Amino acid sequence: MPKVGVLIETGEDGVKEANFGVITAAHGGGDPDIYAFVLDGSANGCKEALQSYGVSKVVALGVEGGDLSSSPDLQAAALVAAIGHFSLTALLGLSSAVGRDLLARTAAAMDAPLVQDCIGVDLTAQTVTKSHFSGKTVATIKLAATPFICGLRANVIEAQSAPCEAELIEYTAAVQDPGKLVVREVKQSQSGAVDLTEANIIITGGRPIASGENYKILRDCAELLGAAVGASRAAVDAGFAPHSMQVGQTGKTVSPKLYIGCGLSGSVQHFAGMKTSKVIVAVNTDKDAPIFGKCDYGIIGDLFEVVPALTEVLKEQQG
Ligand code: FAD
Repeated sequence: MPKVGVLIETGEDGVKEANFGVITAAHGGGDPDIYAFVLDGSANGCKEALQSYGVSKVVALGVEGGDLSSSPDLQAAALVAAIGHFSLTALLGLSSAVGRDLLARTAAAMDAPLVQDCIGVDLTAQTVTKSHFSGKTVATIKLAATPFICGLRANVIEAQSAPCEAELIEYTAAVQDPGKLVVREVKQSQSGAVDLTEANIIITGGRPIASGENYKILRDCAELLGAAVGASRAAVDAGFAPHSMQVGQTGKTVSPKLYIGCGLSGSVQHFAGMKTSKVIVAVNTDKDAPIFGKCDYGIIGDLFEVVPALTEVLKEQQG
């Protein structure tokens, strides 16, 4: 039976929801044994959630005489040791900030093939799919060696429950070279806002938002929706929002369940970053705006009226 590893990311509420789609992806092809690697000492607490999506082994990964949280180099070295120890054919994770860093370090340390921001993976054929040319084409990439490493775009694969009884394994890696990087401090952003790349719902404001202060209209609505707030490049270039909020070809790539675009024309470059969203809703004053040809639901209206009205309805609903 093939064995596939999944790098698990955790937050304050335990396993981050976006991991479950990655676990579902790991099931594809040959019904593999799935090893979920938890690096922060919370493996026992994560077991129930992970086994409900079909993880057969929950591995509490540690390192001899060290603290894994002290260095991404150490984490990568521990993952390399674990991949060898459990004879894994592949390691999957999220193309999140953590995944982009740690999966890349792991691939480099073991000279393994790596593809990030994948939108699909076939473990039997050893291929991954990836959106190219601003989403105009999808490339199928063959990974010609095992083990291989793949970072998946968050939320792109629908998580499917597959309950089983998982085994909890403690694996402490012996690492010869701890690397040169040491993490001294991790500062959380003050906003407490939902991370754009992992959000299930995103509400985005384009150029007509007209100022940074006006994003409050979107933030008020986002808070009630449990959503993250994004921006178009036109809004970022005009100084209304920081680049960290930009969605698109030269911004972040997102794949939420619901994307509400307010005052967006529907440019190819913006869509390159969000076209894999499950449901797209557009709010635009111009009935002929290109975005109305690309969305699931369109509202012809002024964002300064539509969004506060939505916020009011949500407030009423939520008491
Ligand atoms: P506009 O194109 O100005 O559209 C605003 C829309 O809002 C219009 O359709 C208008 O009818 C409507 N509107 C006006 N007032 C209101 C109102 N009160 N309520 C509701 N609707 C209203 N763009 C990105 O977003 N992300 C990227 O990563 C990105 N990368 C790029 C990379 C390159 C190499 C290039 C060349 C461009 C890139 N762009 C990117 C820019 C892109 O081409 C567009 O210029 C940009 O997306 C337009 O932003 P917008 O839709 O907010 O503004």
